[in-house]
Amino acid sequence: MEAADVIVIGAGLGGLACGAKLALSGRRVLILERKPHPGGTSHVFERRGYKFPMGPLGFGFPDRVRCFLAEAGADPALELRRAHYQYLSPAFDIVYSRPLLELEAELARRFPAEAAGLAGFMDEFGACVRSARARADANPDFLAGRRRAEALSAAASAAVSGMPAAATPCPDAPSAERLAFHLRDPRLRNFLGSMGSGEPALSLSHLAFMWAVMAEEGIWFPAAGIHVLVERLARAFLDAGGALRLGTPVLRVEASGRRATAVVTESGERLGAGWVVSNADAKRTLLDLVAPGALDPEELDRVRRVPYTKSEVCVYLGLDPGRIDWGRMRARHLFYRKTLAPDHFSAPEDFDNTDIEICRWDEGMEGLVPEGKSALVLRAGFPFDAFAPWRTGNKARRAGYRAAKAVLARRLIETAETALPGLAAAVDVMEVATPLTYLDWGGRVLGSIAGWDWSAASLAAFPRKLLVDTSIENLLLAGVYAASELFLGGVPTALHTGLLAADLILERDGGS
Ligand SMILES: Cc1cc2nc3c(=O)[nH]c(=O)nc-3n(C[C@H](O)[C@H](O)[C@H](O)COP(=O)(O)OP(=O)(O)OC[C@H]3O[C@@H](n4cnc5c(N)ncnc54)[C@H](O)[C@@H]3O)c2cc1C
Repeated sequence: MEAADVIVIGAGLGGLACGAKLALSGRRVLILERKPHPGGTSHVFERRGYKFPMGPLGFGFPDRVRCFLAEAGADPALELRRAHYQYLSPAFDIVYSRPLLELEAELARRFPAEAAGLAGFMDEFGACVRSARARADANPDFLAGRRRAEALSAAASAAVSGMPAAATPCPDAPSAERLAFHLRDPRLRNFLGSMGSGEPALSLSHLAFMWAVMAEEGIWFPAAGIHVLVERLARAFLDAGGALRLGTPVLRVEASGRRATAVVTESGERLGAGWVVSNADAKRTLLDLVAPGALDPEELDRVRRVPYTKSEVCVYLGLDPGRIDWGRMRARHLFYRKTLAPDHFSAPEDFDNTDIEICRWDEGMEGLVPEGKSALVLRAGFPFDAFAPWRTGNKARRAGYRAAKAVLARRLIETAETALPGLAAAVDVMEVATPLTYLDWGGRVLGSIAGWDWSAASLAAFPRKLLVDTSIENLLLAGVYAASELFLGGVPTALHTGLLAADLILERDGGS
């Protein structure tokens, strides 16, 4: 007899949402998780009384997240708080998590010579942002099975009845071109094009999505901490009769023809199931867990070629807030750039000359820090290759790695200190994550943190935006890497793809 109707590899948000919905629908589901705890990158770890996040600090589309929890049988009543965002550089200082019309008025006050250009850009861009929000709700490109058919039929009926389509897509033109057409000042173009000081790299439609989330939907966090999502999904899964085995890495998915027959764990156990859902990222699943001959060669080639987004270095600080001058930090998240010298001369560890993120992690959340203390998360993009030589094996490093990490962390703190005087002396506890941490603890290929690369060339390589189905008919993917774009942002996309994988199994087995 098979070990379960469905085996889910991984208990991240995607795997738990999928498992919980299936268990609630009466399926026998077994989740195998390699770590000693569920949650994946949404796990919160503890150091000397401080709780710090492995990954997400917040998420967009809060109403969708509540609906996703309900669909998985988890308690959807979340007390959410809005996270505000500030950009501070020698160019200007602005809190930008606010409606676009307000932002336009504020920018026009600061750049009066650009007022007409700003109005022109916002006119064009506002329509794209509205379309990005509408498409997030019912975009057939990110749906599958019955849900996709329903979305397509709703769009067809709207067209027949002459109603305007709810979600006319925004052009995929490079945003840099449209910004340059309307605006002369590079500081303004870069800010609107990257929410920081970087040069605009996204297409107009992706930029519209980013602003739809930041300015209109908002980014939110649960007052009880980001980890409540994992806790509630795990509880819902277990209450519905699901089985969760922790500390059980899966080494292989066996397939015969185009069907998965079993998964094999690190201890050599062979477990059969009618369906396998992998919450491991797509490259890990299709390149490491499945034998190459089992997959469609084109799919394999694409998965090999298309890159993921880059990695970062992250410094977690527990501290005494009374010793810091917080005057320049006006929002929970500060994107800060100390100097504005040309980028191309910067080394990766030149944190003065790049945008860094400073998050007041415990603000608005309960129970994360000891009484009277506070916590900061500092982040900066960092290339995986710069850290790769330190790695000698899984979680194994050359001597000197800890010291090198500490040097890098101190450099990041020095830069942050120029915005927050007193920071270095206020530090009580410090922990550092590098691209190697995201590889070995996060399980992410090359330490990637934010899904598939969004460049136009990479996106063109995917014929589908939703990557839940694979060429093995009963092997599905769930999680942020199961879509070629994070069309709802990380957390909601992980939940959405997990629930879609569950829907597909229920539909295809004829039992939904
Ligand atoms: C540093 C960082 C910052 C982020 N910030 C944000 C943010 O602010 N907002 C946001 O919305 N999103 C953010 N994200 C994205 C975030 O990771 C997702 O939103 C979400 O947590 C991903 O869930 P998931 O289910 O896709 O995958 P994961 O969290 O990666 O879970 C996958 C699970 O599968 C397990 N697994 C993998 N391989 C195996 C195997 N072979 N056998 C058994 N188990 C296995 C892993 O251990 C893990 O538990 C961030 C991610 C990172 C890394």
